[in-house]
Amino acid sequence: MDKQAQLEKRNALLAAIRKVGGDPADLPFWEGCEAGVFLLHRCAKCERHYWPASRCVEHGDEAMHWVEASGRGRVYTYTVLHHAYTPATRDKVPFAIAVVQLEEGPFYHSTVLECAVDTVAVDLPVEAVMMPHESGLTLPLFRPGRVRPGRVRPGRVRPGA
Ligand SMILES: [Zn+2]
Repeated sequence: MDKQAQLEKRNALLAAIRKVGGDPADLPFWEGCEAGVFLLHRCAKCERHYWPASRCVEHGDEAMHWVEASGRGRVYTYTVLHHAYTPATRDKVPFAIAVVQLEEGPFYHSTVLECAVDTVAVDLPVEAVMMPHESGLTLPLFRPGRVRPGRVRPGRVRPGA
């Protein structure tokens, strides 16, 4: 991809982030999602992980950088939606929305898919799967965890994958 195309892609992603009320400081995270990688913001001094982009509670922003994370975690709490509040969810109900505590510590709110809603439970091991969304962002959704340590599998086929 040439520089101009990269710039246009970056600007489109920034526009999508703003459209959903997100923070442009999280751009690297969303670029990572597009590439099938779950990134977290980490302080190099104390190794604490954060999401979204943050200043370390102890060290401020002097040593913050984005690192590849496992994309794995456990359901901390969840709720099941039975009513379609938006047209986009009409064909998806019922579905579970969970607060996932990531292996690295931070919490991440997302949908749990690829399982019956009555099998979602507190402490269920889950792993992220990247799914393109109508907003233009690629979102990490979660499914019950499989024995596959390492990178997050993208939700679509990538060239060379
Ligand atoms: Zn720190």
